[in-house]
Amino acid sequence: MPLEKTLAAVLSDKSRFGQIFIQRTGSGGFVLCHHDDANSRGLEIFKKPEDALRIARSDDAGKYRPLKTAPNLRRGWRLEVVDLGELRRALDCFYPGRLAMLAAWTDNRLSTTPLRETLDRQSGMYRIAAKISDQQIDDVVGNFCKSGGGCLRTILWKRDTHGAIPSTSLPPKKFDPGHDQTGRGQNAIPLLCQEPCNLLVVECRKVVKGEIDE
Ligand code: SF4
Repeated sequence: MPLEKTLAAVLSDKSRFGQIFIQRTGSGGFVLCHHDDANSRGLEIFKKPEDALRIARSDDAGKYRPLKTAPNLRRGWRLEVVDLGELRRALDCFYPGRLAMLAAWTDNRLSTTPLRETLDRQSGMYRIAAKISDQQIDDVVGNFCKSGGGCLRTILWKRDTHGAIPSTSLPPKKFDPGHDQTGRGQNAIPLLCQEPCNLLVVECRKVVKGEIDE
């Protein structure tokens, strides 16, 4: 399985992927928990990779998490999986599609889509989002995609086909896959963002319609 190969190549005995701490066990399995729970006791135990779907659904306050790479993964759980295949399935439930992007990026075959291209191909009620100005993009991306309180992905896309950076208010490390977006300064497997997500498109539309302050 190619994704498992990619995963095996980046794993160490203790790894981090977004807010997840992954520890290899002596029997070839893996134990996962929230990175703030690495030393916690009394965690709720889960044993099926797909249990990750339930864990990732809502935050600590029980609120639905529309953006799975937002830094609000809930705490208090421990997921035990038996092998690399199960680990891949679990991580795909926590962070859908991110391992595939990592594999494509590692193989140098990841293509990215500029925000303006994504906005230009919207139809129906989202078509208006393409009217957003460069300054408004600068503000909305800087606010919505920021790692602290926004999203933990590393942005690889540009603002437009001329290669403009998406937001001048984001630090250069937001675009660096070698940087730990959780702010812990540890080695971390990056969560890559190859194209603007639908939630960002929704935000752009709101700005154009004057529904949110810029
Ligand atoms: S566009 Fe990418 S970085 Fe921004 S919020 Fe969406 S997934 Fe995260």
